[in-house]
Amino acid sequence: MSQKELRDLVAETKKQLEHLRVLGVEGIQISTAAAPAIPIQPPRVEPPQAATLSPSESVTSLFGDIAPPPVKVTKSSETFEQIHAEIGDCTRCPLHLERTHVVHTEGNRKARLMFVGEAPGADEDAQARPFVGRAGQLLTKIIEAIGMKREEVLIGNVNRCRPPGNRAPTTEEASTCKPYLLREIAVVQPEVIVVLGNTAMKNLLDTREGITRLRGNFQDYKGIKVMPTFHPAYLLRDPSKKRETWEDLKKVRDYLDNHRSTDR
Ligand code: URA
Repeated sequence: MSQKELRDLVAETKKQLEHLRVLGVEGIQISTAAAPAIPIQPPRVEPPQAATLSPSESVTSLFGDIAPPPVKVTKSSETFEQIHAEIGDCTRCPLHLERTHVVHTEGNRKARLMFVGEAPGADEDAQARPFVGRAGQLLTKIIEAIGMKREEVLIGNVNRCRPPGNRAPTTEEASTCKPYLLREIAVVQPEVIVVLGNTAMKNLLDTREGITRLRGNFQDYKGIKVMPTFHPAYLLRDPSKKRETWEDLKKVRDYLDNHRSTDR
């Protein structure tokens, strides 16, 4: 078999396995006997109940013994200054047209805990700082409620420019900006990332599930614990959801308390 045929076969197999995974198949039996040359029909299965498997779980159970090692965030030696200089006076997506400032991730570059939101609002756009408006003030209180200071953590957004009228960023806008956030995550390698609301969660976890379904349960981003919870702007609109958010943040606090790292 030529290299190209082998590559095509691997690509096709991956596609089939992904298809099965989407259908809810969590594992397959692998036989070393030669397979008969018949086309594989995906079995009819019920849609998955809990659709989000962490990347490490899904890969291991799906591939059994031949599982590739789970993808981990590789420590980057870039600096935030280099990343921000590369972003520059960004015009890579239409959000630049109405923004005043590019709003970069801020905070402790050795943080154990990071918060990721959606995109700057009017106050953030004016001050060039993330989460400084009403939602930001509530976020600061949430951080303090788990015994930390705002300066101890890292705070960023999927998008760095304010969407007009505070609409959610489009998929394209988010995927244009997100790589810079992922590079910052690789620099800092926080132990826990709290994703605030649907946009942040979907962009970091690549899931179709909604925040109501996943909040409160640790997820995985390349070996980093991710806790989805409600966005503080939503809590301002519906304060009854503060109780659940508090439960989610207590889990984060407990995780950090029980996993004291020595190298920060
Ligand atoms: N909402 C966000 O998602 N991010 C901010 O920085 C401010 C409000």
